Amino acid sequence: MSLDNTDDRDWMNESSCAKPEYRQEIEIFFSSKYEDRHKAKNICYSCPVRKDCLKWGLENKQIWGIWGGRDEDEMRRTLSVNVDGAEVRRSRFPICPYCSANTKYLKASIVDKPGGGRWTTMRIVECLECNFKWRSRTSANAVNAFHALAQEKAAKKKAKKTKA
Ligand code: SF4
Ligand SMILES: [Zn+2]
Repeated sequence: MSLDNTDDRDWMNESSCAKPEYRQEIEIFFSSKYEDRHKAKNICYSCPVRKDCLKWGLENKQIWGIWGGRDEDEMRRTLSVNVDGAEVRRSRFPICPYCSANTKYLKASIVDKPGGGRWTTMRIVECLECNFKWRSRTSANAVNAFHALAQEKAAKKKAKKTKA
């Protein structure tokens, strides 16, 4: 799925959870029980459209249920939002929602939005480990905050060493 077309849902035709054998138990994707979530995530991990699903879920701010193998808490952490969908600075920075790489491997940038109309640019986050990309202003803010903090810490460490 391309970055500029978040309404493209063709991938849904290939989804494992839409198969008749799983459709019966679709509620496990929205359950709060650990066993249900575990079962749902396992279905996702062998789903041929996991990447598209995860990307669509993030770009359309799906913060309830399981998307692409990630539960709602993981989706909120990635997006840096609370249960109401409002941006918050969480205690844990996002990790790559696709390959679980640490925040230090995530890079936020501003790119042109093809046919952008009123909004001509968009903010994306990319994982340098697996190349998974998603569009999200709040994720980008969190990733930038992580790198700013890391730079600040490194500068303080350097200053201490210089003084010593
Ligand atoms: S990744 Fe999971 S939630 Fe997404 S389409 Fe596949 S099975 Fe369904
Ligand atoms: Zn990754």
